[in-house]
Amino acid sequence: MSKLLIIEDSMLIQKVIKHIASIELHCEFDFAATMKEAVDLIKNNDYFLALADLNLPDAPHGEVVDVLLYANISTIVLTGSMNDKRRDEMLTMGVLDYIYKENRDSYSTAIKLANQLYINQTLKVVVADDSTMLRNYISNQLRKLLYQVIEVSDGKQALEVITRVDDIALLITDYNMPNMNGIELIRAIRQTKTRDEFPIIGLSSSSDMTLSARFIKHGANDFLVTPFLQEEFQWRILKAMEQISLIKKIKEAANRDYLTKLYNRRYFFHTAEKLLTQAQREHSELVIALLDIDYFKKINDNYGHDAGDAVLVKLSTMLNDTFSKFTVARYGGEEFIVIMAGMTPAFCLKFIERFKAMVEESVFEIAGQTIKITVSVGVTNNTELKLIEIINEADVALYKAKQQGRNRVVCS
Ligand code: GH3
Ligand code: MG
Ligand code: MG
Repeated sequence: MSKLLIIEDSMLIQKVIKHIASIELHCEFDFAATMKEAVDLIKNNDYFLALADLNLPDAPHGEVVDVLLYANISTIVLTGSMNDKRRDEMLTMGVLDYIYKENRDSYSTAIKLANQLYINQTLKVVVADDSTMLRNYISNQLRKLLYQVIEVSDGKQALEVITRVDDIALLITDYNMPNMNGIELIRAIRQTKTRDEFPIIGLSSSSDMTLSARFIKHGANDFLVTPFLQEEFQWRILKAMEQISLIKKIKEAANRDYLTKLYNRRYFFHTAEKLLTQAQREHSELVIALLDIDYFKKINDNYGHDAGDAVLVKLSTMLNDTFSKFTVARYGGEEFIVIMAGMTPAFCLKFIERFKAMVEESVFEIAGQTIKITVSVGVTNNTELKLIEIINEADVALYKAKQQGRNRVVCS
């Protein structure tokens, strides 16, 4: 299910939401301004979630919520006012959450939440608990958040699933379980997956205050004390997931070049060192190619720096598409580096020659102008030296390619 339904009669609020959604939301969405419109849309579409205003022209008392829940659509309520009684009524009815319509930030919260729920549909969560009742309760809460849930009844099973299925997004684990307890389980997982890569939430009961601290000390990201409120559960889970995805984004940003979005030098050296060590150990092939755009300074001089930037971006896309099975990085200004592991030098050379020819034949359409470029390439398959010495060899070959007239590939 891929679409979000937003039910809101104020055109002004629709406009605000539309703007936020264009930035924050990664799925399609429809607007309904009345309950009737919502009913018609539900008939013809598959919605994973609805954001619903409680006060509509043809349904002033939240009647639309009944319609949505009857159609089995997860629902978040947007409300101007909510007292404790109304809140309890809504949550008992099965509404996922409610958000106060106060300002722009509330709509932003609602859309971000909707986006997280959209992503949740693709994420698997493991719940490890030997108590069937508690396991069912937690699994149901997670299903409400649209996660795919895998239930296991002891630590050993949990470890087996997490090792076997490589795209598990979260583990929620009890402490007291047969075969392997929660802390032993976390310690086993942390041997391969760090706190920044894989979130774990421990379940402790209010009767054992020391357990929460022990969970954290042994590698859990957070803990939940049972019994807990539905809202606290939901937000703790969402926050734990958000934290991991933020760390991932920061790591990506640190490894990518800002202009071209290719990997940067830092990432290149990190990856290349690993590949070289492996090639030396296994006596396998490793080819490194250093590419440099010919007379790039002239592009800047003739068409302007922005056009130069655009050429770099387009060439980067071509590199990424062509060498998608290998590691490509921006090595410097108009210099790129490719590392090809496990392929024969003859194959790599053909591949690089073909790319060089493709660049020569390509026309870069930039701001109404057509720009043509060529590249020179220095290639080496030496694996006997240190990485920096190998790159130096490729650089010497590149220098020769330039001297021999550019637009060519030279091997060391
Ligand atoms: P050669 O064929 O010998 O490589 O000549 P070249 O002009 O390509 O080489 P040179 O090293 O003399 O000049 C490279 C130019 O690339 C100079 C620099 O201003 C430009 N450049 C480096 N980084 C960027 C960038 O991010 N954007 C743009 N637009 N230009 C850049
Ligand atoms: Mg150049
Ligand atoms: Mg250069």
